[in-house]
Amino acid sequence: MTNPSLFDLRIGHGFDLHRLEAGDGVTLGGVFIACPYRIVAHSDGDAAIHALCDALLGAIGRGDIGQWFPDTDPAFAGADSRKLLKAIMQAVREAGYAVVNADLTVIAQTPKLAQHKAAMVEVLAPLLGISPDRLNLKATTHEGVDAIGEKRALSAQAVVLLAPCRSI
Ligand code: MG
Repeated sequence: MTNPSLFDLRIGHGFDLHRLEAGDGVTLGGVFIACPYRIVAHSDGDAAIHALCDALLGAIGRGDIGQWFPDTDPAFAGADSRKLLKAIMQAVREAGYAVVNADLTVIAQTPKLAQHKAAMVEVLAPLLGISPDRLNLKATTHEGVDAIGEKRALSAQAVVLLAPCRSI
């Protein structure tokens, strides 16, 4: 990167939460993880990707994922969230920005994510147009308390930094 003006940098934050119910697996970060739960959602419910999408939209000042892909629109029923992220990254590029780095935290009591983090980074980094070392993925439990801790929900938070394409 060649010294972009600090005023050209854009930061965004995203949060998402979905309920869990009995099932045969969840998709997080574009990776299917077999477990005795499923995510309740209109789309595939990939909270990790949804948090990234909202962080990107926040950084370019384009609202939120619910405006882009309404959960009342049948077109997005069961949608593969990777496609939603691709569409939003297209908007990021059209706005003249590229991702500098992203920091993603998934908060889930179940499933355990440690052994899936590398696969999730492998899926997400190319979608964000960055090398894997620029996407940090953290997983934490909710210490057994509240809805997430009681395995009734999971959530994700993301922060992204964008810079003008010309400077990367
Ligand atoms: Mg969501």
